[in-house]
Amino acid sequence: MKWSNKGHEFDEIGYLLEDKKHIFLYGAGEGAWELVEVLEAIQPWTGWNIHLVDRDRSKQQEGRFGYPVLSPEMFFSMEKEQYFVIANAMGKTGNEIYDLLKKKLPENIVIFQQFYFLHTYLLIYFVYVHDMVFFTSESILPLTVCNLNCRDCLNFTPYIKEHYIESLDTLKKNVDLFFNAVELIYRFQITGGEPFLYEDLIPLIEYIDENYREKIIRFEIVTNGTIIPDDRLCKVLKEKEIYVILDDYRMALEDGNKAYERVSGKLQKHDILYMDNSVDRWMRMYIPEEDDGKQYSEEALQLKYDKCDAPWSSLKCGKLSACNYAMYAETAGICNGNEDESYDLRRFSQEKKKELIEFRLRCCEKGYMEFCRKCGGWIFTNERWCGPAIQV
Ligand code: SF4
Repeated sequence: MKWSNKGHEFDEIGYLLEDKKHIFLYGAGEGAWELVEVLEAIQPWTGWNIHLVDRDRSKQQEGRFGYPVLSPEMFFSMEKEQYFVIANAMGKTGNEIYDLLKKKLPENIVIFQQFYFLHTYLLIYFVYVHDMVFFTSESILPLTVCNLNCRDCLNFTPYIKEHYIESLDTLKKNVDLFFNAVELIYRFQITGGEPFLYEDLIPLIEYIDENYREKIIRFEIVTNGTIIPDDRLCKVLKEKEIYVILDDYRMALEDGNKAYERVSGKLQKHDILYMDNSVDRWMRMYIPEEDDGKQYSEEALQLKYDKCDAPWSSLKCGKLSACNYAMYAETAGICNGNEDESYDLRRFSQEKKKELIEFRLRCCEKGYMEFCRKCGGWIFTNERWCGPAIQV
């Protein structure tokens, strides 16, 4: 979004939930857990009572995530006050639930789609109602070096001419600047490159844990499933309750099965919390053969940026990127971004909280990233897909 009223972009909607006491999550499927996890963590501020609704009778009988589950009939007919509702599913199902809620609930009831609520509205709510900077996600890259060379890597590894390996001191300074501004975050992620190759990973984790753990709801590391963490690292991952996102590239790599099983076996042995991140396709964000220098109007680029919804940002050199992929593309030399595409945290002060949230929600002077010219977009808009982890 192009900045038009810096510091006041969300004034009209900032206090929508100020007086709410109850949140109803309509949809209690597998994906519902993520939102429940966040809502429980932020309850000390929000005070929202969590209720689940689902048409599945077994969920109504057994409950979900420790909560009773209401039937839709019960939900629509019961007396309710000071509440709002989330259409708690993604894609087509999420849209259907949203339409149903719009049709059946009174016009003044606030209804959100799950993705928008988690990645956009919660940030606005916190900064207006609690004067707090809350982020949903942020990543930090200790290095761009990786032992794989995936053609469609979202860090654009095959194009990087000069890899970087940040010093521990620099990373600590970046993390300090970040948490000087951000008071609470859902997913704080160490990624790469391959973070298990970073020599100072243990002291980096320990530093973040010792200084900022109470500000992080979920502390994550992403690994490509081919580097076996040693016992010392496993001990730290376990002790610090790090959530490992274990990418599963078994189908794409020679010996991928063996490597993946050795890594997952080691994580299991040490009782480390991990998620098997197995996907059957990757989006192709950058295809060099299609990088034909085509000219786009400013309006077309702004529209593309507004529609993109990529929820990740990255932290580097004391700056936040508006879109992490744009920052990675710049690092890889695919495009040249400009000043406008990052927020310098050294210039942050307490009266700039709303401005920072606006930037994180992708307001900037130009209204798009330079890389938008070449990029296929994030998962909601990208139409170019391929198999995962194809090696070059
Ligand atoms: S289109 Fe690409 S560069 Fe532009 S915001 Fe989306 S992911 Fe980032």
